[in-house]
Amino acid sequence: MGLLDGKKGIIFGVANERSIAWAIAQALNKEGMELAFSYAGEALESRVRPLAESIGSKLVIPCDVTDDAQIDSVFDTLSKEWGGIDALVHSLAFARKEELKGDFVDTSREGFRIALDVSAYSLVALARRARALMEGRAGSIITLSYYGSVKVIQNYNVMGVAKAALEASVRYLASDLGPKNIRVNAISAGPIKTLAAMGIAGFRSILDQVETKAPLRRNVTQEDVAKTALYLLSGLSSGVTGEVVYVDSGFNIVGL
Ligand code: NAD
Repeated sequence: MGLLDGKKGIIFGVANERSIAWAIAQALNKEGMELAFSYAGEALESRVRPLAESIGSKLVIPCDVTDDAQIDSVFDTLSKEWGGIDALVHSLAFARKEELKGDFVDTSREGFRIALDVSAYSLVALARRARALMEGRAGSIITLSYYGSVKVIQNYNVMGVAKAALEASVRYLASDLGPKNIRVNAISAGPIKTLAAMGIAGFRSILDQVETKAPLRRNVTQEDVAKTALYLLSGLSSGVTGEVVYVDSGFNIVGL
């Protein structure tokens, strides 16, 4: 018997087999959760569909989170096919490459808008639609953040500001949705080599810092993050909401 037998969840943010969202999906599916996947744009469908099908998922739906009509269409499909959902994974972010190098002070108005829209507002947009489908089901929503939300990380720039907005959104959403028994939490993951991470200038040196300075003296893996996601999306964390849980080998606790 699995921890999540009979439960249903939607995963936003799989791009390929290295995506954090994919590790989370596998961990949830192993415990019995039935999953639907969304993908951002046609180019990614050929990557996401085979992964989804490999764990028996039939619902693979396009969704660029900057487009409200596409978001509505995802939730219409979930409502029609399943009636409701128990879990939502928001594991996506975007900033233009030119904003992820050099000085934060040079961030353009448009670059700022895009980063905050895709990486932070999208959680609000998805949570609002999920609310109706989680009614009466003890729902759980998670998102992925990074330490650049609270400390300056070279080259992370506008994405750090977007993650700060994302973490604040988690608290406000947790407060709004808590009375409906829907929980909202974030995982602040340590650096992991994925498609999104490769867009950050000097990413290798961030990995090196964790390896030498974090208490566990190693970088975390997608599977480390997925195990905490399983905790947050299951009844094991039934009393936890509005939190940012660090899965970073303890890097964030180190001062001098
Ligand atoms: P990834 O590249 O595998 O995933 C990023 C996802 O964002 C992709 O699936 C992409 O399609 C999606 N996306 C981008 N723009 C979108 C849009 N407009 N609409 C819908 N989807 C869109 O990389 P990842 O590292 O697995 O990233 C997942 C999350 O984890 C992100 O929020 C990222 O900031 C966060 N995170 C990553 C790390 C790391 O070091 N890899 C560390 C902490 C937090």
